[in-house]
Amino acid sequence: MRIILHVDLDYFYAQIEERDNPSLKGKPVVVCVYSDRGGGSGVVAAANYISRRYNVKAGMPVKTAEKLLKDFNPVFLPVRGEYYEKVSSEVMDIIRSYGDVFEQASIDEAYLDATRMLNGDFSQAPGHAVRLQADVYLKTGLTCSVGVSYNKLLAKIAAGYRKPNGVTIVAPGEAENFLKTLKISKIPGIGVKTTRILEDMGYRTVGELQAISVERLMDVFGRKTGLYIYNAARGVDDEPVKPRGPAAQHGRIKTLREDSRNPAYILSELETVIKELDQDLAFEALSFKTLTVVFVTVDLKTHSKSISFDRRFNSVSSLRKEILNLINSFLGENPYSIRRIGLRVSNLLKESGVRQLKLTLF
Ligand SMILES: [Mg+2]
Repeated sequence: MRIILHVDLDYFYAQIEERDNPSLKGKPVVVCVYSDRGGGSGVVAAANYISRRYNVKAGMPVKTAEKLLKDFNPVFLPVRGEYYEKVSSEVMDIIRSYGDVFEQASIDEAYLDATRMLNGDFSQAPGHAVRLQADVYLKTGLTCSVGVSYNKLLAKIAAGYRKPNGVTIVAPGEAENFLKTLKISKIPGIGVKTTRILEDMGYRTVGELQAISVERLMDVFGRKTGLYIYNAARGVDDEPVKPRGPAAQHGRIKTLREDSRNPAYILSELETVIKELDQDLAFEALSFKTLTVVFVTVDLKTHSKSISFDRRFNSVSSLRKEILNLINSFLGENPYSIRRIGLRVSNLLKESGVRQLKLTLF
């Protein structure tokens, strides 16, 4: 039985602003990504809990947030990307020491596997989580919420269960009861679209979702997603906590010269990445079946879109059309401009042999 923690910094960017400027306390604080078009147009990147009470949400136009908050003395601030990244790495350095394995999932979220550190004794996990939380607060002045369970899926759901500054434990044997009353949308990976389809089928809670057969789910959502939903509804997940390698340093991701939502421009900026990746593939004699475009948006979140092929490729440059499609489909779903863009290939095979490599190029 593993001991897994998910740590999620509370309303991260807005909390940093509040910490740095105590006069913001008690006011609705909205951190915004303003577009170059000026005139105060832009998108909300983060909102503190007071502004959330008035239905302000990340991703909504700044204009809408202004309307919702106009009578409540709000504070609108521009996003300070590099600064938040610096604070994030300070916090992550503290969190890292609370596990045997550490996986940063985004600028404000991380997973820990603390099984060995706690000698596999789950009863020590709640105290461990509280100590982590207190340590982060004492050293940085920031609060986080922690979920503890025996896999990543349950730990993540648990971290979101009691916010801000919460600790939620889902011990072995408690998963089914914990999940039953949750709304379907609380399951990571079940987005707005899937939730809507399930609600139209008459299912609202995870408990109700547990009644659907795996065959039916695979019928409606396809094999992979159907199986994922079936397992997730039961709290089943065996994904390991994976330390991320020396990541972006291999240069397969790059910062755009300017933030953009223009697909042609973004693709043109990818040309050097395409060239370098093709050189790597040629050098290592690798072919791949899956191509992933990685997007870091101006709110500093990392996203990805993948496509898998029936046959193998040994060069990405022949796949510009597919890359462009992935960029377009991402832009259709996400309101932010793109700040960094990268490519990753997986499902690799060494052409000279049959050894399957699990090589990630960044
Ligand atoms: Mg967070």
